[in-house]
Formats: sequence, C-alpha cells, structure tokens
Amino acid sequence: MRLITAEWRKKGLRIALVPTMGALHEGHLSLVKMASEHADRVVVSLFVNPTQFGPGEDYEKYPRMLDRDLDLCSREGVSLVFAPDHAEMYGPGQETRRHFITFRIGKMKEHLCGVWRQGHFEGVLLVVNKLFHIVQPDVAVFGQKDIQQWYIIRQMALEHDHPVDILMGPTRREPDGLAQSSRNVYLNRDERKKAPLLYKALQKVRGHILRQLEQSPGNGQPVCIEKAIISQEINRLDENGLNVEYFSIVSAPDLQPVAEIMPGRQYIIAAAVQTGTTRLIDNVLLSHKES
Ligand code: AMP
Repeated sequence: MRLITAEWRKKGLRIALVPTMGALHEGHLSLVKMASEHADRVVVSLFVNPTQFGPGEDYEKYPRMLDRDLDLCSREGVSLVFAPDHAEMYGPGQETRRHFITFRIGKMKEHLCGVWRQGHFEGVLLVVNKLFHIVQPDVAVFGQKDIQQWYIIRQMALEHDHPVDILMGPTRREPDGLAQSSRNVYLNRDERKKAPLLYKALQKVRGHILRQLEQSPGNGQPVCIEKAIISQEINRLDENGLNVEYFSIVSAPDLQPVAEIMPGRQYIIAAAVQTGTTRLIDNVLLSHKES
C-alpha cells in the first residue's frame, strides 16, 4: 500500500479512500463514484473491524464476501483494494493502545447511537485513524447513512492533524425507501416489508417541522418541536415491530438534542430501531434558510 501510494503521490496524483466493512452494495459504490470525482486514484478498504462491535453484536455473522466485493471494485474502476486480516491491522502489541482504547470521545457520542453502542465510535476512530496513516488519502468519503460517525470522524481528522477532506455521500435507498445496508440481508420477509416505515416516519416528522417553519411569521423566531408528533411516529413504528431505540432531533455539528428549531441552522432527525435480531438506523437532514 505504502509503495504504491508513494508512487502516486510522487506523480502528483490525488488519492481518495472509501473505508468499508465489505458486503458491498449500491450505497458503497455511490461513495466510490463520488471519490473518483474528487481524486485520481480510489482506494477501497474492506475490513470487518472487530473493535467497533460490542459484546453480543453481529461481528461473527456479519456477511463476508471478498471475491464478490473484489469483482465489484474492479468493475467500478477502484485502483487498489486494502483487505487486511486482523493480525495485519492490529498486530501483536498493545502497549500504547491499551485494550484498544486510543480515543476518548466527548459530547458527540452522548446521544443517538453512542448511547446504544458503547465503545462503538472509539473502535471506528481506532481503525479509521490507522487507515488514514496507512493510505494517507487526500480525501475520504463516508456515508450520510451513518451521520454521527461522519461528524465524529471529521472531528478526529481535525484534532489529529490528518490532512484529508472528509466528504459525505448521500444515503442510497431501495425503491421503497429503505436505506441500503449490508445488514438488510438479516431481515426476514415480514421485517423487510415493514422496514421502510423507518424512513417514512423520519420524513413525516421532517415534513411537519418544515410546514411549521413555513407557517411561522418568518421573523427568525425559533419553532418549538411538537413532542406529540414524534411520539405518534414512535408508536406507529413500535406497533409494526420496529422497536425504537431512539428517535431524536439533534443540531449539527455538535449532535446535541434540541427542543426548538432555529431558522438558518442545520439539524438531523435520526432514529434507530430493532426488528427481530436486526438493528436499522436512518436519518434525514433538516435545514431551513432564514427568509
Ligand atoms: P459499512 O460497510 O456499513 O461500514 O459502510 C461503509 C461506508 O458506506 C460508510 O461510510 C457508510 O456510511 C456508507 N454507507 C452505508 N450504507 C450506505 C448507503 N445506503 N448509502 C450511502 N452510503 C452508505
């Protein structure tokens, strides 16, 4: 990896990195396409990173399909695939990285997935930080699908002096609205049928708030979030077997819950549900220009 990317750098070529856990789908490939629009060479990493899985999560059963992934990458014009095994990535020593803990994340992980997946974002930063050192990309592309991850990684890159632009690719969806995910293969037929309700609920809340903002006097005053609207959507999801872990509106980039929407600022409506043994997450953006 170092030899090849050093050659590229010598030639003045820009390098993009798309980190993934493999089992590639259209969402991943859309990030590859975005990466190729911002760089001369695209590197994709395929690594099911154990340190970002908690106890009892799906590390063992996570889908692994290296041959198919390599095929897709070559068809998409990826220049180089980095698919290390555990030993290559984490090696034998843990002296400056006791128990795999290098990062201590503050407020940005206090809500959303940070509450439900203890240690998850620390594991993500550990592996992404290593990938940034190994590949030394000029740009790295991550999906809006995992929006809390995106903001935390961007902050880490800033604080740890990685000279890399962090880009966000929009969420790719199935025709019925379900966000594409490697974990969707876990869904049985009934769960798959109901899964798009998650995106519908997020859109409903977004639509409601946008109407409230339009109807407000337009003098830059904040608009209160009606808790009843969110409770209604949570109930509908629960009734359909999508058990809600969280359904929150947070401000960006600090990822703190808000009770009101200020015109001109950026917010995220995000939710996670558990259906059967599968955990699904999704989010929509809410930005409203001051009139
Ligand atoms: P993963 O392999 O699930 O760790 O995801 C690798 C990258 O793909 C992350 O940056 C994800 O946010 C992104 N990603 C996952 N699903 C989608 C999707 N449906 N659309 C766009 N990007 C996605």
